[in-house]
Amino acid sequence: MTEPLTDRIADGIHRIPLALPLDDLKVINAYAFESSAGLVLVDPGWATVETERTLTAALKELGYPPHDVTKIIATHAHWDHYTQAVRLRNEYGSIVYLGAGERHSLDAFATLTGPYPRQADLLREAGAPELAQYIDTMPYQAHEVGLPLDAPDVWMHDGDVFDLGDRTLTVHEMPGHTRGHMVISDEAAGVMITGDHILPRITPSIGFEREPEALPLGSFLSSLRATLELPDAQMLPAHGRVTGSVHDRARELLSHHDARLAEICDLAEDGRSPHEIAQALPWTRYERRLEDLNPVHRMVAILEVAAHLDYDRSTKSGRAATPSRS
Ligand SMILES: [Zn+2]
Repeated sequence: MTEPLTDRIADGIHRIPLALPLDDLKVINAYAFESSAGLVLVDPGWATVETERTLTAALKELGYPPHDVTKIIATHAHWDHYTQAVRLRNEYGSIVYLGAGERHSLDAFATLTGPYPRQADLLREAGAPELAQYIDTMPYQAHEVGLPLDAPDVWMHDGDVFDLGDRTLTVHEMPGHTRGHMVISDEAAGVMITGDHILPRITPSIGFEREPEALPLGSFLSSLRATLELPDAQMLPAHGRVTGSVHDRARELLSHHDARLAEICDLAEDGRSPHEIAQALPWTRYERRLEDLNPVHRMVAILEVAAHLDYDRSTKSGRAATPSRS
């Protein structure tokens, strides 16, 4: 199905679908908010020539030249959300905002080498030395080279408010998918941009970053519960269709992880490694076998099992039973 250039969500709120240079994830949804303080863009895509062309055409359809974008908010530092934000800032002078918790992973581009610098060790600990070896020596792909990953102009914190005159956006820190992931609420309009924290069909990957935290699943589950404490809203996800309620999907993801945790802990009882447990489980909504996934997805699957076991151990030992959030 061909996507439109822009898709009106509500008064002055538009979805802008942008193609991604990836095999598995084809599109990211950028969002544009019109306001009396100018146009605000959220998650404007992967820095490619095609993104720039499509985004410029979409903004034109909405009646704005690119230099009218005053602020650009990235929900997190993943390349499909952040890199075009930096490129636009460098060309047009918009102000770029990113969660303060993303600083570790952004800094790690300068200090660590390779696409997955910490993951090989984690895979070895999880009983997958061959995959670890592969990931350790994996080169960057062509579309991953030369991306702008400079620091944002402003590091955002939980509860930050954008007063845009006739519109107010509030930022809520929801760590888990990455350490500093933010969701953005427009309460008056009844919408929440959920980034990759809550997606309509995919179960978001957790701790998928250059400098992952020790217990990403604990943070993710806490963040899902924290989402339920915010007013319910229409979910504006980074990938997939704009469909139902944020709360409904947060509850689904909580029960998915409850079931997954029970299943993984059962399989762990006879001393299997996270790798062996991952081999015994179905993956993706198509119920694929681990061996049939590509190496990066295999890595994500095995580390997800390891994250569940780490979380289970932490709750049993009483450490971070309810991981703290401020
Ligand atoms: Zn992401």
